[in-house]
Order: sequence, then structure tokens, then C-alpha cells
Amino acid sequence: MTGSLLTECKNLIDGEWCSSSNGKNSDVINPATGENIARIPYSSKEDVHSAIDAARKAFDDGGWRKSPVSERSAILMRLADLIEHDRDRLARLETINTGKSIKQSSNYDLPYLVDNIRFLAGAARNIEGKAMGEYVDEGTSAIRREPIGVVGVITPWNYPLMMVVWRAVPALLMGNTVVLKPASYTPLTTLEFGKLAQIAGIPRGVLNIITGPGPEIGEEMARNSQVDMIAFTGSEEVGRKLSSYGSASLKKISLELGGKAPFVVFKDARLPAAVEGAVVGGLVNNGQDCANSTRYYIHEDMVDEFESKLIEKLKEVKIGNPLDHGTDMGPLISSAHRKRVEDYIKLGMEEGGLLKHGGFEPKIEGCEGGFFISPTVIRTENEESRIVKEEIFGPVYTILSFTDYDDAIRRCNDVIYGLGASVWTSDMNKALHAVRDLRFGTVWVNEHVVVPSEMPWAGYKHSGHGASLSSYSLEEFTNIKHVYFDVSGAVRKKWYYQVFGSER
Ligand code: NAP
Repeated sequence: MTGSLLTECKNLIDGEWCSSSNGKNSDVINPATGENIARIPYSSKEDVHSAIDAARKAFDDGGWRKSPVSERSAILMRLADLIEHDRDRLARLETINTGKSIKQSSNYDLPYLVDNIRFLAGAARNIEGKAMGEYVDEGTSAIRREPIGVVGVITPWNYPLMMVVWRAVPALLMGNTVVLKPASYTPLTTLEFGKLAQIAGIPRGVLNIITGPGPEIGEEMARNSQVDMIAFTGSEEVGRKLSSYGSASLKKISLELGGKAPFVVFKDARLPAAVEGAVVGGLVNNGQDCANSTRYYIHEDMVDEFESKLIEKLKEVKIGNPLDHGTDMGPLISSAHRKRVEDYIKLGMEEGGLLKHGGFEPKIEGCEGGFFISPTVIRTENEESRIVKEEIFGPVYTILSFTDYDDAIRRCNDVIYGLGASVWTSDMNKALHAVRDLRFGTVWVNEHVVVPSEMPWAGYKHSGHGASLSSYSLEEFTNIKHVYFDVSGAVRKKWYYQVFGSER
């Protein structure tokens, strides 16, 4: 047992915690043990409609959207304080629900997401744009940034609480109301977020949370004409479906999707730093991070040395009960997902790859029912192999060699994704060329994974569009309105003759 708690959870609709209208529930599992830890509402379309109605009413009533941004900001700042105060409990809950190590939940996820909220709540008071000014004779123009309306937020299971912060917090700060659907595997910290948001002072109806099957309730959110925008973080496959569901009502769809980050080690790189960076870049969040480094393009003169040093380090990784403070790596999210990762490992070998390390299911004492897998290293020169092109979303390192700069950059860019990429070199000119040439929303130089709250996290190509974090993510949840004031006071303006009558 790694910490059992059987909780009965409810939806948050219009300020009330309620069961699903059909009385159905589903189980939530601890991926380290396979035990049931909670029951959540298996909501129906009827519940989605109630949540949307509540959000619509809260938006149309206008209390939230018309409130000064300083008031909304203060509420979100209070929420950050409450989360920080409850940080140990929330980190533990996140670990029990996702299998990520407590070391990561406590030292990275929780402090980082608190900082994310504080940054966003401050930045919301400092939205910038064109100054009010005269762009034509006889008039003054101004820009207003206004909320879009009801925003449906749909989040994935890998960073449950952080993704709520990245999507729901900027939406709320900019005056929108929200219907939030967490991933069915990992709803627990999202529901806690709802409780703390109420204590912080989010008014009823402004934030609604419903749990249940994505293909039913997520689809209904995207199709419903009372929802003005969908903010989705998840797989490319579901992102594409949501775009099509939302097209009939022409709603704005903001997509943060998958990745397949390359990690390029040039001949002049500091090899020990690149190896340390590769261990962390590949294993963060048990290898289930959209930014994980997955394709390792190593200069041909050093590929063998890089590979052997990486494997030496990976042998030191402590796989175990994620609640133990000494554990580096916990389980994958589910048995089905582990099978998917294992199928990719098999496929990589069928397509010419050599298994150099790992590829097995470690047995963890006390966690026999968990979905563990070892870090795995595959060496391949088959650039077309599916393990090189597709998102595996597990701790699988694919190592390839390259000959020169153009070869490396061309192959890095030759995937459908464009989220994050890193280059490792001591030549700053080469680094700057790579920064320019890599078609990815974030490029790290001699680092991988870091994204400060002030900077955007945004995808190119099939990794989506729009931005999380930074003030760009606040703009994402606004419409721009042009307001024009006549300053001439004239009955007949100088330009009217162009439509009617003659020039005076
Ligand atoms: P997913 O399968 O796409 O699910 C994401 C969310 O969509 C869940 O809440 C899910 O609900 C819901 N959903 C599933 N099918 C749906 C449908 N037909 N219509 C509407 N909603 C539906 O993704 P995941 O497996 O949870 O997360 C992993 C993926 O997220 C990876 O591809 C990863 O790269 C990506 N990700 C991207 C970022 C980024 O910032 N770009 C960050 C984190 C994760 P159920 O859980 O009920 O199925």
C-alpha cells in the first residue's frame, strides 16, 4: 500500500458540489499499486449542460467580467496562497494519483504552479497594447481587451494541477467563466483546486468542474454553442477531433498538444553536461512530459561514448514507490499506457533498432500492482522508424548519430511536432544558428525542460497553437475590441462625400 484513501468525489456546478445526474460513478486508481483510491461522477451530457448553463449565467450576469481586474487578481493571489499552504497535502495527492515522484511533486510541480499563478495574477493587471491615439483625422481609437465568454477547459493526466493553472487561471483572470473537465485518470487535485477556489472567493458559477468520459462530455463541451472557446491540452489526436467538433459553432479552439523533442549534441559539447541533461530531459515526470527529450541526435564521433555514459547514469535511477523521498521514477499512468510504450519498444526493434538498456518491468516491493517500466535505450539509424517519428510518452531514449549541422537540423525538423528542442554546444554561433533553424516553440541551449512563468510555452506545427504561461497566455483568453471616438463634433465628416454627396 502506498497511501490508500477512498474518497467520494462530486462535481462543482454553480457553486454546489453534486453527484452526476445519472447516479453513475467511475473509479480512480493509484498507478503505483493498482488500488482504487476514489470514485468520481461519471457525468452525462445533462451535467455538462447544467455546468455550461451556470457558466453562461455567471458570464452574462456580468459580475465577474465587469469586476476590476485588481479584484480578480487578488482572488487568484489568495488561491495561490491557499495552494502553497496546502502544498504538502496536494503534492502527496498528485503523487498518489499520477505516480510521479513525491520529490518532483513537492519540489517542482507545486512550487512552480504557485509561482505560475502569482505571475499570471500580477501580469493580468499589466496587459499592454497600442496606446489610445489618432490614426485618422477627426477620430481617436482605443483597444479594449475583453473576455471571450464561457471557456471549456479540458486537461490531460500528466500534470493535472499544473495544466488547470495554465489554462483555467488565465481564463478566469481575464474575466471569462469556466467549465473545467480534468482527465478521468487524474481528477483529484483538480477537485481540490475547486474547493480552494471557492475559499479564495471565486463566485458561484464562475468556475465549474465536471468529471467523466472525454469522448462524451468533452465532445459536448466542444459542440455546444453556449461555449465560446475550448482550451485543450492533450494529445494531437483528440485536439484534431475537438477542432472539428467546434467548427460548427466556429468557436475559438486553443490547442496545446504532443511533442517529440530532439536533443542535439554537437561535437564541441561538454559531454558530462549533456549526459546529465539527457537523464533529466528524458525522465522528468516518468517520461510522460510533452517536453521530454526523446530523439538523441549525437555527433557520430561521440555517439558511442554518449550512449555508454548515459546508460551508466540510467543504471543509478531509483525506480520505486513514488511516495518514497528517495525515488527518482515512479510508474506510468496505467496498464494500457505501459502496454503502448512496450509496443513501441518492440516496434523499434522490429524496425532495426538495438535494445541497449532496459525494456523490462521492474518489480517493486509493496507496489506489485503498479505499472512500472525501466528507462529504455534503443540505438537506431532508421530515421523513418515510428519510434523516431511518433510520441511514445514513456522513458524511452532513441539514440541516432549525425554527420554535420545541416544533417542534424533537417532531421530534427522532420516530424509533425514542434514543441521543444535542445542543442548542446560550446559554440554560441552554432547555437544561435540552431535557435533560428529549429521549428519548435521553445529551443534550449545546453539545457532541456526549463520554462519560467514569464516565458511562453507554445507549439509549432501539430504541437498546437496559442500559448501557455507568460502574458501571451492571458491575451489568448481575450477578444480585442476597437473603440472609435469621433472628436470633430461635426454633423457631416470630411470623408462622407466618398459615399454620398459632394466634397465641400
Ligand atoms: P488525451 O487522451 O488527449 O486526453 C486529454 C483530455 O481530453 C482528457 O481530459 C480526456 O478525457 C479528454 N478527451 C479524450 N477524448 C476526448 C474527445 N473525443 N473529446 C473531448 N475530450 C476528450 O491526452 P492525455 O493522454 O490525457 O495526455 C497526454 C497528451 O497530452 C500527450 O500527447 C502530451 O504530449 C500532451 N500534453 C501536452 C502539453 C502541452 O503543453 N503541449 C502538456 C501536457 C500534455 P478522459 O480522460 O476522460 O479520456
